Amino acid sequence: MTKSALTAIHPKPLPEDTHSCWSCGSMRAAHFCESCGKVQPPVPVDYFTFFGLPLKLNLDVAALEKSFYELSRKLHPDLNARAGSQEQEWSMEQSSLLNDAYRTLKDPIKRTAYLLHLEGVELEEQSKSATEKARTTGEIKKQIVPPDLLEEVFELNMQLEELRMNKKVGEDDAALVAEIGKQKQSLEAKHEALLQELQTYWKSWDSMIDRSPAAVEERAQVRDKMVDVLNRRNYIRNLVRDVNAVLES
Ligand SMILES: [Zn+2]
Repeated sequence: MTKSALTAIHPKPLPEDTHSCWSCGSMRAAHFCESCGKVQPPVPVDYFTFFGLPLKLNLDVAALEKSFYELSRKLHPDLNARAGSQEQEWSMEQSSLLNDAYRTLKDPIKRTAYLLHLEGVELEEQSKSATEKARTTGEIKKQIVPPDLLEEVFELNMQLEELRMNKKVGEDDAALVAEIGKQKQSLEAKHEALLQELQTYWKSWDSMIDRSPAAVEERAQVRDKMVDVLNRRNYIRNLVRDVNAVLES
C-alpha cells in the first residue's frame, strides 16, 4: 500500500495535448471526436473515467449498458472508412478497452475489486505473496478463518474428514451427507449476504466521495472493510468448492 494511492483522489484530467481532435482540431471526448466522429488515440485512464463516471460504487447498470452499446457503435473498428488506417488501430485499442471496462464495472464484485486496485490494494497479490512467503520460509500456507466462521468450519472439516474415510472404505452415511449438504447451504446463504454487507460500504464510500474527497483516514477505514468482506467471501467460496469436491468424489 502506497501513500500516493491513498491520496489519489480524483481521476487525473486528460493531458493538455489530447484535448483536441487529431483530424479536425475540435475539442474531443475521451474516445472519439464529437465534431467529426473520428476515433482518437487511447489515453491512459481508469475504467470509471473511461465511461465518464466518478469513482463511486453504486452505479446505474442499465445506463452503463446503454453507454457501452453507444460507444461500441462509435468505436467499432470495422467501419469501412477506417479500414487499414491508424484510426482503425486506435479504434481496436479503444474497443478492447471499452470491453474490459464494461465487463469489470457491470459486475458488483469485480467493480469493487477494481476500485480497491485503484486504491492500491491487490487482493490477488496479497494471497500470491502469502503463498510465496510460505514457500520460502517452508511454512504451510494457512488461510485465516474469518472469526465468525471458526466453529462452523471446525465442525465442517471434521464431517468432511469422516465422509472421506467413509468413501475410502465404501461406506454410505446418508445422514452425514445430508448434514454436510445443510452446512453447504448455510455457507452459500452467507456468501450471498456478504454482497449485501458490501453494498452498505458502497454507500459509505460514495457519500464520502461526495462529501469530502480528502478524508484520508475515513477512506482507509471504508476500504479496509471492503477488503475484509471480499476476503471472507473468497474464503467461503473456496470452502464450498472443497465441500463439492468431497461430495462428488
Ligand atoms: Zn474531429
